[in-house]
Amino acid sequence: MKQLINQLIQLQVLNFTLDEQKALTSDTYLKDLEASIKKLADSLPPDILKLFTQLSNKYSTAVVPMTKGTCSGCGMAVPTILAYEVKLGEKIIQCPRCARILFYRDSLPRQLKRVTSGGKPASGLERFSCSRLMVPQLQGKTRDEIIREMIELMAAEGFVEKPDALFESALNREAIVPTAVEHGLAFPHVRGIEGGGLIFAAGLKKQGVHFGAPKNRLTKIIFFIVIPLAASAFYLNLITGLMQTFSDADARERLLDCKTPEKMWQVLNQLTKKTIP
Ligand SMILES: [Zn+2]
Repeated sequence: MKQLINQLIQLQVLNFTLDEQKALTSDTYLKDLEASIKKLADSLPPDILKLFTQLSNKYSTAVVPMTKGTCSGCGMAVPTILAYEVKLGEKIIQCPRCARILFYRDSLPRQLKRVTSGGKPASGLERFSCSRLMVPQLQGKTRDEIIREMIELMAAEGFVEKPDALFESALNREAIVPTAVEHGLAFPHVRGIEGGGLIFAAGLKKQGVHFGAPKNRLTKIIFFIVIPLAASAFYLNLITGLMQTFSDADARERLLDCKTPEKMWQVLNQLTKKTIP
């Protein structure tokens, strides 16, 4: 049975990845992903697949962790006996309030604070980042070093905890299909952290780095994103907007020209005014 819940988690991850690839108009891995999803779905008992599909249509996340006895989908304290069953993982257990399927995690990395914009109502990218999370010259020389560097910055600035756990999750996500796409862009990310809002850091590597992009092209602009459960759906709007902006070569050049975090943040906001209102 533990295997069944793991299969559902895996199916959900593949569905997320497929949605991401579509949002990024990256068709490199679409066929492979669709085939993997079909294979996994076909191997599930039909009633479980039906339940999963119904929940996935209703919520952006159908299978959610129960941490510290609480459903991370709706926040309900799971009754003790059910919580015990979730921990055992021998049956499919649904949250009594929201009906999402629960699995056990002793703890999740937490978001420690949200980005703020100095009192005025935030709009556009101000809701998700700030100049302190801009890196005009990434030091890392490889994909892994760069992901690590961006996570450490987010942790050092006090936005997230457990950088080691985040790093591991980010690499697990890269292992499914690379988050690097066309136009020298990459969107490494971690899903399902505990907390309210989506946060990203942006980094530039002017000479380029191998990030697993199609045709072995170099990646120069990297957005590292942490996505709390509640922001799963919004994440797709963000990457679609960034992709729209930076499929334009002039926009990429303007960003890559930035020498300071403040300038980079200013240019990034200007360039995405229309695509991420
Ligand atoms: Zn719930």
